Amino acid sequence: MKTTTRVVVIGGGVVGASVLYHLTKLGWSDVMLVERSELTSGSTWHAAGGFHTLNGDTNMAALQGYTIRLYRELEEITGMSCGLHHVGGITLADNQERFDMLLAERAKHRYMGLETEIVGPEEIAKLAPIVNLDGIIGALYDPLDGHLDPSGTTHAYAKAARMGGAEIVTHCHVKETTQRTDGTWEIFTDKGTIHTEHVVNAGGLWAREVGAMAGVYLPLHPMEHQYIVTDETPEIYERETEHPHVMDPAGESYLRQEGRGLCIGFYEQPCRPWAVDGTPWNFGHELLPDDFNKIEDSIEFAYKRFPVLERSGVKSVIHGPFTFAPDGNPLVGPIPGLRGYWSACGVMAGFSQGGGVGLMLAQWMVHGECERDTAAMDVARFGDWISPGYTLPKVIENYQKRFSVSYPNEELPAARPNRTTPMYDIFDRMGAVWGQQYGLEVVNYFAEGDEPRYETPSFRRSNAFEATAREVKSVREAVGINEVHNFGKYRVTGSGARAWLDRIMAGRIPKPGRLSLTPMLAPSGRIIGDFTVSCLDEQTFQLIASYGAQAYHMRWFLQHEEGGVSIKNISDKLNGFQIAGPKATEVLQACTRDVVDLKFMDIRKMTIGMTECLVQRVSYTGDLGYEIYCDPMAQRQLWATLWSAGQPLGMKPFGMRAMMSLRLDKFFGSWGAEFSPDYTCAETGLDRFISWKKNTNFIGRAAAEAERDTPPERINAAFVVETEDADVHAYEPVWIDGEVQGFCTSGGYSHHTQQSIALALIPRDRAVPGLEAEIEILGKRCKARLLSEVPFDADGARMRG
Ligand SMILES: Cc1cc2nc3c(=O)[nH]c(=O)nc-3n(C[C@H](O)[C@H](O)[C@H](O)COP(=O)(O)OP(=O)(O)OC[C@H]3O[C@@H](n4cnc5c(N)ncnc54)[C@H](O)[C@@H]3O)c2cc1C
Repeated sequence: MKTTTRVVVIGGGVVGASVLYHLTKLGWSDVMLVERSELTSGSTWHAAGGFHTLNGDTNMAALQGYTIRLYRELEEITGMSCGLHHVGGITLADNQERFDMLLAERAKHRYMGLETEIVGPEEIAKLAPIVNLDGIIGALYDPLDGHLDPSGTTHAYAKAARMGGAEIVTHCHVKETTQRTDGTWEIFTDKGTIHTEHVVNAGGLWAREVGAMAGVYLPLHPMEHQYIVTDETPEIYERETEHPHVMDPAGESYLRQEGRGLCIGFYEQPCRPWAVDGTPWNFGHELLPDDFNKIEDSIEFAYKRFPVLERSGVKSVIHGPFTFAPDGNPLVGPIPGLRGYWSACGVMAGFSQGGGVGLMLAQWMVHGECERDTAAMDVARFGDWISPGYTLPKVIENYQKRFSVSYPNEELPAARPNRTTPMYDIFDRMGAVWGQQYGLEVVNYFAEGDEPRYETPSFRRSNAFEATAREVKSVREAVGINEVHNFGKYRVTGSGARAWLDRIMAGRIPKPGRLSLTPMLAPSGRIIGDFTVSCLDEQTFQLIASYGAQAYHMRWFLQHEEGGVSIKNISDKLNGFQIAGPKATEVLQACTRDVVDLKFMDIRKMTIGMTECLVQRVSYTGDLGYEIYCDPMAQRQLWATLWSAGQPLGMKPFGMRAMMSLRLDKFFGSWGAEFSPDYTCAETGLDRFISWKKNTNFIGRAAAEAERDTPPERINAAFVVETEDADVHAYEPVWIDGEVQGFCTSGGYSHHTQQSIALALIPRDRAVPGLEAEIEILGKRCKARLLSEVPFDADGARMRG
């Protein structure tokens, strides 16, 4: 066994093996994997081996597509068999909402190059004759679905990695991981100590325990899971071709052919977490005892959907644990604040996702960034507020909802409320309908009178429509007020602060008393942040960006920290309100003896009522507006002052639904939609905020300049869409001249201009005013016309005046 290496991967399940293979594929051969037992000794050996591309997150779906296509490559490289059965699969819909979800997925697949199809009952009967079609509206057919041999596949990854120079040591138990002062790691095993630059935690069922060795809490939890293999079934073995997979979300089951019989697994409601206080080290190749009580209702449902099952005996039952993160997606990437420590765990569908996880992690380690946005799987999507107390109920919820329809406006109830500000009870009494962002309660809108305090999950316009319209109206016609708690906020101080910001940010860093907008770029020129930077004095700056990206941004800042600069995350230490609308200045003036003469993009300290505040004149609503920041201890007092001054002027509170509608009037992009590592500045229009004049080699400069010289092929454009009751959310295809030539990044209903707006990436040469296109929403191609001018305040007189 080597005692010095560049990377130690801990864990020889399918995920660890994939990471190891991908590291060698990208050129790192001095890498090793240590496994406490034989390869596959965690969840991997007892998996059902099914794979599919369907995933609510588009990037995850693309990576699942990559994983599935990789198996042939592995077979070719190694000459080993992965036991592939590319039999195709259907996902059934027994109600309109489920069918809408499948239509939306199919639409996304069009530009992702996935050849899925919507099929009706007649085709279902031909494809999968054992399905009882009562109540079935249709299904999504995916020819890529199939299953494989879990053990063979893991060994194929391992062989391919060995061929690339990797070493694999089995029966080698990692007992401790310790970081040296130079940032490198010592891995203490029962076979000796290994010194390494990088550690990858691919500990699967034991990832929590492996993380704890380095003081890292990984938010995942194992759940028990059960599938049944039936005896031989004539309806199956008499077929000429293998039966396709059938996912039946209504019955929370997945079914496939296994030899001459069937195999069916369930995501049952009375589910059970496993090893709540930690995974025992002596758990090995054993299964959990059969538990038919837990799946009794699921089996009863399955008998109705697949009557053949009632006649088939049970040959064997597989009941074992595997891990989930709170949202069901993997936990991948560098652990924020810990050099050289990488996560590759929480992978609940190792055979659909393992290849993509391995590829992304290897790119991150070798190239410093990934080829696509990894937000859905980034371990940094959970901040340091995460705890086992939060993870457990969320994981249970996720398991139970594994096959539920997931709606774009859905707010899941488990583990809430978790984090709240001093405004929580005040807003709650005012009718707040709550959402959740990065653990924080956020008002989506305010219900009035006898309106329900719950937004109906839907792909179409929801019951929040009227309330959102009211709130938008009050902003555009009078003044609205909304909390600024869900902004990520950072304080950058020190003698080197300006120089550091000039290097980290692509845009202009403002003078004292002013603010500016700036993109933050990766070396490849991809967008990794859109920031507002305010200069309080030459050595003190405040940054504002997305609340949900705090750990992601702090990780980047700390990776690029320099002497003479201190960077602090103050997101929850600074709170306050934004007021926006034509009467905003009047309200503010009524609350202070200071003269309110701030110009657009000014920042100033002011006393508002009894509270010392920082006031910046800027608003994401695109209106005349102010962001007013204060110590959270003074927030209720600030509220009382602003609210009572606002009443005679028609002030109303507004929530996130209104905010996202208001920003569309100005085509403002948003983080995670228009602005993400999937796109560049020139594609999304953020290039106008790049400071070409500044004499600094800011990160991403060379790539941004190359793009300035050779503009990208696609560009973000705005459309008005003719649609009745459903708006664009994201990733809907854009049809131009009868072909899919682009896709939407976001959209929604502009209540102020009373039209449905979509923002979309389309070919640059087609982005001409008046272009007639079609945008596919829930299977319907809706007419869309390209808008060349923002429909509100086009000359900026209101916002800047
Ligand atoms: C019943 C069941 C059915 C399933 N069906 C499917 C399916 O059809 N399709 C699908 O995609 N997924 C399925 N899964 C999920 C799948 O099994 C997991 O996604 C996958 O196995 C996770 O792999 P992993 O490598 O992350 O973890 P694991 O397989 O748990 O591997 C972790 C490895 O790390 C090793 N290790 C841990 N700690 C140490 C240490 N300190 N030192 C050395 N080694 C260590 C362990 O011994 C283990 O071998 C199923 C799971 C179950 C339980």
